Amino acid sequence: MRRIIIAIDGPAASGKSTTAREVARRLGYTYIDSGAMYRAVTLEALRENVSVHNRDKVIELARELDLKLRSHESKTIIYMNGEDVSEKIRTPEIDQNISPVAANPGVRAIMVKKQQAMGEAGGIVMDGRDIGTVVFPHADLKIFMIASVKERAIRRKKELEQKGVKIDLEEVEKDIEYRDKQDINRNHGPLLKSDDAVELDTTRLTVEEQIRKILELAQNKIETS
Ligand code: C5P
Repeated sequence: MRRIIIAIDGPAASGKSTTAREVARRLGYTYIDSGAMYRAVTLEALRENVSVHNRDKVIELARELDLKLRSHESKTIIYMNGEDVSEKIRTPEIDQNISPVAANPGVRAIMVKKQQAMGEAGGIVMDGRDIGTVVFPHADLKIFMIASVKERAIRRKKELEQKGVKIDLEEVEKDIEYRDKQDINRNHGPLLKSDDAVELDTTRLTVEEQIRKILELAQNKIETS
């Protein structure tokens, strides 16, 4: 049976990663969290005291970064130069500094190339903002996940609280809206629904319902391709 490419895009905290990871697990596919890669570059810039607005320097850092993604049980482990930075890349500080890094065309070119190499052989579920439009424009199945800002903020706050980070809902909502605006309005690889993507509004869906819906679409593609 052919091992297809599934691209899942959508705004911040729309439930992409939880859903994509589980879809990949049930299909026996590899899950790639492309956002983790932009997060790692941001972490490196902050650690090296390089301004996230300094395009050339950030490109240099991105080029030299050795990034490896591994799935471990229900988690994605990301290694940056051999160090497990999975938790360190998911902080409000990274959220607040990532937009200029993700808008940097040189950084995007490096990351897109890495992502394409990871998905070459198929059998992959990748989530992000530009997966169906730029990384895999010929993906077999494209999903665009959306949910109301309020719902996304509630989910993100819960996720942060589970990690011991206290933050109020309005602040989370503001961060999400800011990041979405930056992602939508940038010139390179903006957040955009591909014409051939299936839109999935998850505001009133449970995670299990989201997973089943995507698996159903994936099975159809696998059987007919
Ligand atoms: O998906 P996640 O929220 O972890 O992504 C963090 C940030 O990385 C996004 O706000 C976006 O700016 C950037 N990103 C991107 N392209 C991708 C994935 C993420 O620009 N394919």
